Amino acid sequence: MFAKADLVLLHAPSVYDFRKLPILFGPISDLVPSTPIFEMYPIGFSSIAEHLERNGIRVRIVNLALRMLKDQNFDAERLIAKLKPRAFGIDLHWLPHAHGSLEVAALCKKYHPEIPVIFGGYSSSYFHEELIRYPQVDFVLRGDSAEEPLRRLLLSLRDNRVSAEIPNLTWKDGDGSVRVNPLTHVLPDLDEYLNNYSNLFRSALRYLDVRSLIPIHDWWEYPITAVMTCRGCTHNCAICGGSKFALRESYSRETCAYRSPKKVAADILAIAGYTNAPIFVVGDLRQAGDSYASAVLSGLKAVRPCNAVVLELFTPAPESYFKEVAAALPNFNFEISPESHDEEVRRASGKFYGNEAMENSIRFALDQGCSKFDVFFMIGVPRQTSRSVMETIDYCGHLMKTFGRRLNPFISPLAPFLDPGSMAFENAEEIGYRIFCKTLEDYRQALLAPSWKYTLSYETRWMTRAEIVDSTYQAGLRLNRLKKEYGLVGGETAEKTEKRVLLAMEMIREVDAIIGVPEPERTARLKALKETFDRASMATVCDKDEIKWPVLRRRLNFPRILRALFESRPA
Ligand code: SF4
Repeated sequence: MFAKADLVLLHAPSVYDFRKLPILFGPISDLVPSTPIFEMYPIGFSSIAEHLERNGIRVRIVNLALRMLKDQNFDAERLIAKLKPRAFGIDLHWLPHAHGSLEVAALCKKYHPEIPVIFGGYSSSYFHEELIRYPQVDFVLRGDSAEEPLRRLLLSLRDNRVSAEIPNLTWKDGDGSVRVNPLTHVLPDLDEYLNNYSNLFRSALRYLDVRSLIPIHDWWEYPITAVMTCRGCTHNCAICGGSKFALRESYSRETCAYRSPKKVAADILAIAGYTNAPIFVVGDLRQAGDSYASAVLSGLKAVRPCNAVVLELFTPAPESYFKEVAAALPNFNFEISPESHDEEVRRASGKFYGNEAMENSIRFALDQGCSKFDVFFMIGVPRQTSRSVMETIDYCGHLMKTFGRRLNPFISPLAPFLDPGSMAFENAEEIGYRIFCKTLEDYRQALLAPSWKYTLSYETRWMTRAEIVDSTYQAGLRLNRLKKEYGLVGGETAEKTEKRVLLAMEMIREVDAIIGVPEPERTARLKALKETFDRASMATVCDKDEIKWPVLRRRLNFPRILRALFESRPA
């Protein structure tokens, strides 16, 4: 017998009909664990569920995107029809969910017109006044701290009370007028919520529905987890919707909220007890100061080598930092995102460090035993030309030659959308962007375009949409060949990647040729290419294994998970 949830949190695929529609999604998710339908739900689902459960509100997470991806016959509409919570919560955190989330909300309303539908996440917050006007949306909770306002909203719904006092809420009153309550609830720190997945394991047990909780398609084989250290950022990268500027201007966050070092270390140790898989620490530990980073690291001495711990570097670091990391962690890894090899382009992107400082950091890290150092470059940033993109690939060759096989460079397009709220979005003309999509509805429609070239929401003063697409594939081809040359990928893998890139380029040309054809021939010709589009959109410019860290055969420690469930039951 299934327990009944008060709130069902639904995660939609980016495009609801992705299993039927012929769309060449492109290499938009090559460098993240998800597929192009972005089946990974926001990590905020976990803290929301934990906070509400602790306060006596039962929460069930249903990852519809993943269920639809895994099973061609899975009927999402039927499942929604059967669910009967007090409220539905739907994330529209990342804009690529603009289509799927609204379709899922419409299905909730179709079968349960009386059950409130609540939206949340960055994109919901940014477009709240437009979003609330869709008939399938009843409430939007704004900002990055929805846990407590959501609890208050659920209680007020239970008691049929007016919602005027609930912070961060956009809603419709009795006569349908839109009301916008002030965005005043902004968490000052992150110590209140657990951050170690035990509540998710407990939920899987209660609803006997592990399949709906899995965050990414291959999680059983690769159970990577993330630990949040903060909300907000101290940096101002031009293209980032999570930057200091964006958080202040659009989500009322004046300063970062950190989780205390003791709790971050405890989270990592708890997760290391459940899994032998990689643990990704979100946010550069040095953001809150060197003493914060030292305090976290000093609490990690018990982490075993089977857990690859991945740390972010927002700026280069001195040798002493890598020594400290090496003393704390037997298997540590780093990531840095310089965007371009060209320091002028990097500066225009809001990153103010040189190649020499970055290469010194790489050297220090590798000398101290870093297992893998990933360097991420981006296509579509200010002042970058097609020629500059190819020079970035030359630089990748230089990095691989200098540092060997533990250094892994990647390149990907800024796609499909420029983040609303980012400096590049808000000051587009000044920074050099031309934005095609302005409203939420524009984005929803753009997601239905037949190829990512037409979904792309922007071009720059230096590169057209077509050039961004072409440079992406040309750069992917060359980087793949260089990785083969330097032994980072095997011959067979390189050959498969090359074939996928060439196939994707051919499909881009096919769509270009079809796009002007009148209906119904246009749709018929696109439909005939559906299966090829899908093949050409999965891990196009690099193999998914390249972004992974090794895991042991015994990936999850089930006895430890069970023990944690009983030790950490909510009151
Ligand atoms: S991209 Fe830049 S602004 Fe955004 S989170 Fe990373 S460091 Fe911060």
